[in-house]
Amino acid sequence: MRHIDSLIFAGWVIPGEPEDRILEKHALAIHEGKIVTILPIEEAVREFSARVTHRLPQHALIPGLINTHTHAAMTLLRGYGSDLPMMEWLHEHIWPAEQAWMSDSFVADGTRLAVAEMLTAGITCFNDMYFFPETTASVVEELGIRACIGLIVVDFPTIWAKNPGEYLGKAEGLYKHYRQHSLIRTALAPHAPYSVSDDPLKSIAALSESWDIPIHMHLHETTDEVVQSQKQYQLRPIERLENLGLLSERFLAVHATQLNDNDIEYLQLHQCHVVHCPESNLKLASGFCPVPRLLENGINVALGTDGAASNDDLDILGEMRTAALLAKGISGNAAAVPAAKALHMATLGGAQALGIDDITGSLKPGKAADVVAIDMSALSTQPVYNVLSQIVYAASRHQVTDVWVAGQHLLKSRILSTMDMRELQTRILFWRQKIGDDS
Ligand SMILES: [Zn+2]
Repeated sequence: MRHIDSLIFAGWVIPGEPEDRILEKHALAIHEGKIVTILPIEEAVREFSARVTHRLPQHALIPGLINTHTHAAMTLLRGYGSDLPMMEWLHEHIWPAEQAWMSDSFVADGTRLAVAEMLTAGITCFNDMYFFPETTASVVEELGIRACIGLIVVDFPTIWAKNPGEYLGKAEGLYKHYRQHSLIRTALAPHAPYSVSDDPLKSIAALSESWDIPIHMHLHETTDEVVQSQKQYQLRPIERLENLGLLSERFLAVHATQLNDNDIEYLQLHQCHVVHCPESNLKLASGFCPVPRLLENGINVALGTDGAASNDDLDILGEMRTAALLAKGISGNAAAVPAAKALHMATLGGAQALGIDDITGSLKPGKAADVVAIDMSALSTQPVYNVLSQIVYAASRHQVTDVWVAGQHLLKSRILSTMDMRELQTRILFWRQKIGDDS
């Protein structure tokens, strides 16, 4: 009998590979942060003796959800400037508020709130883009979640950096600092084609290649962005990025709501990834990402929430449902983005986009134990005929009870184990009073 750290006995295990597999009454064996094997419960009882055994007969285990695009600290601006089109919302509300309030402690507190919200929603990894990324990274280290930290670059000065040269200098320091970290990766994060000029973009293309890290960028989010680029450069944004050498299998195009056939060809040719943020696109009336066409063309699609100021929740279970429903509604095809594909986009698709699918994204022996337990006994998910379909179309994030990241039990029966909730509530109230009194 082999001694291991933990065994989780579950009503269902959905490993994520192959996409539609459902295993009933199976166990997940975990040792030193990694998945040892997945096997029927009765075999697990014979083969293993575990230090800790979790018995979850009413639960489904799924791979940890990946939020492939967010601005974590923006939780502190949740609900700020609602019901406005994207450019007005950004220029007249969000950027001025950030100019006024952005600081190291704003980012630390906002990120703690975001991580608390994401862990309780079954998100075990997030891909971030924000100022003070070193602060985001240290909060990630403190709380034990997995993350890809965006090394943000914009043309304009902020309290964090004065010019593209300083943004890129700080990016290099952070990349080097976290190169060997077990939970933290970095990505170059030029904000968008309209906020970063050609020279820094060329440097970013070269750095991404030499450091072998992703480029995480908003792209073709609105028609305005495309029209403005055609006026200024006589090129669509994606053509301009192609000319500058940014597109590759390391490129994550966030939003991609305005795509013509040529744009899709570029994405396919360079094996870029698309990060679909359906609820943010809906709220800002930005347009619809043509997900079924991207998938037909073999383009990997991941899911993101975007920041909490444009969504307004960090809920990937919710994004899965919206993505699946939206794809069906727009294409007129009820088979477009089936439940298993929606879960794939929320897990392995995200891991592939970030280049960490050898570590996470599915429940597979040798991968990190990034695992989520969803309680299927709630009335809203009863009776269970097809557990996968039930998770995508009926389950809510409030049914997530337990979450492990690299085998660490970060959410235990809905209680966060690495966070002081009272302290967090005090800090949120502090910012609410400060920002609210000034707005
Ligand atoms: Zn965004």
